[in-house]
Amino acid sequence: MTPPRGGPSISDAEAPFCAVIGAGPAGLFAADALARAGARVIIYEHKPSPARKFLMAGRGGLNITHSENLERFISRYGAAAARLAPLMRAWPPQALRDFCAELGETTFVGSSGRVFPASFKASPLLRAWLARLSRLGVAIATRHDFMGFAESGALRLRGPEGEFTRNFDALVLALGGASWPRLGSDGAWAARLGAEGVRVTPLAAANSGALIDWSAIFRSDFEGQPIKTTLLRHGGLSARGDVVVTRGGLEGGPVYALSSQLRAATLKHGEATLSIDLRPDTTLECLTRKLSRRPQKQSHANFLRKAGFSKVEIGLLRESRAGGLPRDAESLAALIKNAPLTVTGVAGLERAISTAGGVSFEELDDALMLKKLPGVFVAGEMLDYDAPTGGYLLQAAFATGLAAGRGAARYLGLSPDQPLAPSVQDQAAAPPRQDSDGRSPEESNKYGA
Ligand SMILES: Cc1cc2nc3c(=O)[nH]c(=O)nc-3n(C[C@H](O)[C@H](O)[C@H](O)COP(=O)(O)OP(=O)(O)OC[C@H]3O[C@@H](n4cnc5c(N)ncnc54)[C@H](O)[C@@H]3O)c2cc1C
Repeated sequence: MTPPRGGPSISDAEAPFCAVIGAGPAGLFAADALARAGARVIIYEHKPSPARKFLMAGRGGLNITHSENLERFISRYGAAAARLAPLMRAWPPQALRDFCAELGETTFVGSSGRVFPASFKASPLLRAWLARLSRLGVAIATRHDFMGFAESGALRLRGPEGEFTRNFDALVLALGGASWPRLGSDGAWAARLGAEGVRVTPLAAANSGALIDWSAIFRSDFEGQPIKTTLLRHGGLSARGDVVVTRGGLEGGPVYALSSQLRAATLKHGEATLSIDLRPDTTLECLTRKLSRRPQKQSHANFLRKAGFSKVEIGLLRESRAGGLPRDAESLAALIKNAPLTVTGVAGLERAISTAGGVSFEELDDALMLKKLPGVFVAGEMLDYDAPTGGYLLQAAFATGLAAGRGAARYLGLSPDQPLAPSVQDQAAAPPRQDSDGRSPEESNKYGA
């Protein structure tokens, strides 16, 4: 076995002692795999509580994975698909659904093929998972910041009592990307790994909302309102799905799908046109015919309302024309099929759903170990993959977390994939061993400093 990074561990005589940095889905799943293989595991997390982004994803319904054919699923990862393919085959979407079921949360396939937990939330799943990790003996030290590596190669951490270094038999880094930094993943690791000579593709916002200067009245009347089943177009591209009006513009799957093109266009030209089709399943001719049946005395707005258009849809049509609705049926139908919106930019990392860029796959072996730092594995969104929304991001966090955890277990000579002991599986949920007051759980650990 390659000598552990940072020199011999104080735990040589015992089960290997591993650290996982980052308590998001990737880190929790890596810890799960390592603990099941028999390692002693501590997770360091710099926020006061774990998995804040996962919980935030739960506020949007938690689209945990997707039910489409596996090969098509894998193709969603674009340039990273070839590297992720074996990991996805080892941990396909159905395995993630089974894992959720093991934690007491059944999942279902929505009409779009996306998979959601029955509760539409992340919190029940997270609670059950943290209890399982606790039963597996995994400790979580919150308020501990990964600071990089000391010259000796030891891990540098900053806890509530200041900075310290530790040696571990193996280490999994799962620090997330850089989007929504207030939830914890701030991308500060990129410079710290860069200092070790690890190549990191620059981090950039992905799956971003479109910025639109709504009129004050439209914003105050419709902020937060959904518009169902739209088709968005920009240049030669289109994407279909639901969108939501926000204070600053539009969010939702089809907006995210077009966001990198919108970013490029707005950077080049200052603004770009995004057109929205509010009735993608009705042809222009059919819509024109329907609108021609409007009784003379009825206003267009009233007629549209009676024909099933919501207030926000009618407001959007007005907004896109910067005035009243067209008077003739043909022009109104054309507007419904192709309402132009002026996009001034796309949201930056502070509000993007995910992060493009990250640790280059060229820096990693097949087990996700850094070639330059033996014993250090990388998982989750800090890897250089990007994918659309639709459950692909969480699936990748889980699959790479498992691969890194298994890789670290094998590196330590442990046999991964040990089934859970019945006592761990069946025992009633115990509270997680979580160090929320900042005192190091290592104090109760025989390997404490
Ligand atoms: C609003 C929103 C909604 C989303 N909805 C979905 C969805 O429905 N479906 C989907 O598939 N994906 C969704 N995503 C994306 C998904 O949440 C992420 O891809 C996923 O959480 C990435 O997991 P991760 O474990 O790699 O990173 P993260 O979840 O970001 O976890 C990384 C952890 O590392 C910690 N950390 C970072 N730096 C340090 C440090 N220096 N020291 C110690 N700890 C550190 C962070 O605090 C964090 O807890 C959503 C994202 C957002 C922002």
